[in-house]
Amino acid sequence: MRILLVEDDPQIGSAIASALDDAGMAADWVTDGNAALASVDAGAFELILLDIGLPKKDGLSVLKSIRQKRNNIPVIIITARDAVEDRIAGLDLGADDYLVKPFLVDELLARLRAVTRRHSGSTQPLLSNAEFTLDPAGKAVTFQENDLELTGKEYRLLHSLLLTPGRIFSREELEEKVYGWEEEVSSNAIEFLIHGLRKKTSKQAIKNVRGMGWMVPKA
Ligand code: CA
Repeated sequence: MRILLVEDDPQIGSAIASALDDAGMAADWVTDGNAALASVDAGAFELILLDIGLPKKDGLSVLKSIRQKRNNIPVIIITARDAVEDRIAGLDLGADDYLVKPFLVDELLARLRAVTRRHSGSTQPLLSNAEFTLDPAGKAVTFQENDLELTGKEYRLLHSLLLTPGRIFSREELEEKVYGWEEEVSSNAIEFLIHGLRKKTSKQAIKNVRGMGWMVPKA
């Protein structure tokens, strides 16, 4: 993922650039509004992190100009703590989200993921624990990094469990999630599905808690 970082403060800029680098994202860093617009015109970026207070051309003008060109690249604006009106103006000009200084790197990365997700048309994040990864958008599941072929019901059962790893789901809850209200469910249907899932993964992948139900272990 290639990101255009527009930030004139050298300390904040280099901190963000190295955080993005650590997270495996390539960041190109420019320090004024004119350079930002030139970079947007020249380069293939997937997202812009845009400070508002910038030399030459402020961030709001940069954003306005990007959107006037009908460029819908995701933009996250970076504003000062007390600049509520900048955030409002930025969102109204077409920013996808904002960050308030000072912010934690983890928050920055989470917002990047969320904005990218929304932009790609998927509002659901990946569900996972230590062993499973489930992509609700692509309906793809992996176990220990190997692709899994699941039946529709196995998928729904696993999806329910992975929404909250570590939580125990009772038989009734799982039946409701997998079969809905309408379907007739045989008494051992959930055991049958879990048996199938364990055969495709491992015995420990889905844990039974005697008398209470089933869970997938927390990451
Ligand atoms: Ca600034």
